[in-house]
Amino acid sequence: MAIASKVQTFIEGASWIRRMFEEGERLRAVHGADKVYDFTLGNPNIEPPARFDQEFRKLAENPIPGMHRYMSNAGYEETRAAVAGLLSETAGIAVPSSCVVMTCGASGALNVVLKTILNPGEEVIILTPHFVEYKFYIDNHGGVPREVWTDQETFQLQFPAIEAAINHKTRAIIINTPNNPTGVIYPAESLQKLGELISRKERELDRHIYVISDEPYGRIAYEGKSVPNIFKYVDNSVIVTSHSKDLALPGERIGYLAANPNMTHCELFIEGAIFCNRTLGFVNAPALLQRLVAKLQHESVDIEDYQSKRDLLYTHLTSLGFKMVKPDGAFYLFPKSPLADDVAFVKVAQKHHLLLVPGAGFGAPGYFRIAYCVDRAMIERSFDAWKALAVELGL
Ligand code: PLP
Repeated sequence: MAIASKVQTFIEGASWIRRMFEEGERLRAVHGADKVYDFTLGNPNIEPPARFDQEFRKLAENPIPGMHRYMSNAGYEETRAAVAGLLSETAGIAVPSSCVVMTCGASGALNVVLKTILNPGEEVIILTPHFVEYKFYIDNHGGVPREVWTDQETFQLQFPAIEAAINHKTRAIIINTPNNPTGVIYPAESLQKLGELISRKERELDRHIYVISDEPYGRIAYEGKSVPNIFKYVDNSVIVTSHSKDLALPGERIGYLAANPNMTHCELFIEGAIFCNRTLGFVNAPALLQRLVAKLQHESVDIEDYQSKRDLLYTHLTSLGFKMVKPDGAFYLFPKSPLADDVAFVKVAQKHHLLLVPGAGFGAPGYFRIAYCVDRAMIERSFDAWKALAVELGL
């Protein structure tokens, strides 16, 4: 075999992504792009905030000597300090810049953290439905994913199930809030309970268990809600995030990891993370983007634009009989599939030119995901297709 058999298996397991992409291309070629309603990708369709362009122009007009050189693997001190400043505000504790490592997106940060903490065979709990790549990232670093369902009606944490999954091999749990694909935010009380559970288990098992809070949608929260800072509730916690969604810069690969300063052996953890950022081949986060995001820590894209799209689709779909949790953030809806077989449902939807992702892609058969980070006009054009789909399925 020309490539590793494990990679071959993973490619085959994830082939639905490619198949959906190909089907979308085929439908667009046959019917025209405006007759195809593509809700598959979490790729923001909006532009970064105006201040991004202003800062970008300023930097281009007044280049700083040496600005394209290598730097410390952790990133520029100016950027780490800006991130730490914001985290200190939201956590209510002083977070020093030394706790922050700039990374190539949240994906880079997740890989760095997992590489830093995992011994071969150690388990990482992931909460279903979960971001499709978690299993691959855990595998990258010799770990074993252990899936635990959230509540199937509310998608909130189920503590008895999490507790039952923790054992002498558990090294970490990944939480993702606001969540992809469900859009739920875990409230402060849940994070408090999680913190209590993890510290009790750490004492019982005499091992260090990390809570990794994956928060690329952290600023995309609706109706005045916000994502509580995990540092307040869990000492052994790490935030991994990026500016892919909050500043609409996914192609620029800029993010960071931040360790709770109250973490046991925080300095050693950061030393490990800096080493892994280097040796995983990222070396450092992109220099230009670090300079820019240092100035933009209090900026974000227009959250109301996403909220109004959520409302538009939520109202239309629930009126047609689709059942779903109303999300508090991110830019996804995760309704129940009207057919028990979500892959079969997605195929029926394709007949109406609606492109959706089956819940199975998130470890959650029986649901489907709608990404509404798309043009409002496309959402409105899709309404008749949703109606015809609901009629065909007898909703
Ligand atoms: N985590 C979640 C839950 C995501 O949805 C994504 C991207 O969609 C990522 C991590 C990766 O983000 P980034 O593009 O910053 O690497």
